[in-house]
Amino acid sequence: MSTPPNTPLPIESLFQLITGKWISAAVSAAARLGLADQLDSGPKSSVELAVKLELNEGALYRLLRALASVGVFHEEAGGTFSQTPVSELLRTNAKPCLRNFAMMFTDEWHMKVWQELAWSVKTGRPAPYKAYGMGGFEFFAQRPDQAVNFNNAMTDLSLGDAPAVVAAYDFSRFTHIVDVGGGMGGLLAAVLDATPNVTGTLFDMPYVIDQARTGPLLARHAGRCNFEGGSFFESVTPGADAYLMKYIIHDWVDDGANKILSHCRKGITSGGKLLVVDRVVGPRNQFDITKFMDLEMLVAPGGIERTENEWKTLFAANGFRLDRIIPTHSPLSIMEGSPV
Ligand code: SAH
Repeated sequence: MSTPPNTPLPIESLFQLITGKWISAAVSAAARLGLADQLDSGPKSSVELAVKLELNEGALYRLLRALASVGVFHEEAGGTFSQTPVSELLRTNAKPCLRNFAMMFTDEWHMKVWQELAWSVKTGRPAPYKAYGMGGFEFFAQRPDQAVNFNNAMTDLSLGDAPAVVAAYDFSRFTHIVDVGGGMGGLLAAVLDATPNVTGTLFDMPYVIDQARTGPLLARHAGRCNFEGGSFFESVTPGADAYLMKYIIHDWVDDGANKILSHCRKGITSGGKLLVVDRVVGPRNQFDITKFMDLEMLVAPGGIERTENEWKTLFAANGFRLDRIIPTHSPLSIMEGSPV
């Protein structure tokens, strides 16, 4: 068999894979510097941008040139740069937005935990234990400065995914939905928008709830939304007919996941539904970003992405039957379970 023309040599392929960090860090820097916000009003030269943002002009040009080579910004003649559909998502007010997510990738904690991936593979433990001597969420509670981009990044992802989740499932059949680990409330707000007769409860750690309660996302639902701070390892708000969890169960291996699900099982009313919004790992050898999200789960919170069978087993171990896996237009699926 002859190699098709233009197939990169193995050394080129590996070089490109290794240097993925260069691209990731460059995007993160653009997000931190707010470059996409500046280009929103039209193309600008790197000189203009450097003056406005008080940056080194030569260095800024080099950052923009590199980014334009991967589709983040477009370089026009004369050192002028314009927005692209990709760079547009780095604007502060973009919808969907990935600016906070991009900034998070160069936060101190994120750099440190990824530096310890090999340690995590050796020990099976999440890297905040190596880097900081404690679990990731405990670390965030103690270092709120490091939690800012993380919480905002979760909101970015939530606001991006929420329309797909709401479009894929009829939430109006419920009377009370608890969003367990609901963060700032982006998903719950979108669900309540679609269900005028439903009451919602946002449940998360007390320091997150303190921010969410006064934050903008759920303000429009003040009359039918409750806030509850606590740990889902101890209890969750009881008596609801839907327990919704997005990007929660993947944060935990089975020990932790079992605890959370058993509290939902105790709390759920008969005829209620467990709605786990998470990813499903795809077939072997195929590129699937979920397999890298899985490594993020390994190094940071100490969680895992699961296959369809693993989801089924996890539900069954906690008194739920996995009724359906509902795909959405986002990379997330809705795993719907019934208490048995
Ligand atoms: N569901 C949200 C947030 C996912 S991030 C979204 O999709 O955007 C995971 C969430 O779990 C964070 O908001 C974190 O504060 C919360 N969390 C972590 N440990 C917790 C605990 N012990 N009790 C309650 N919430 C917890």
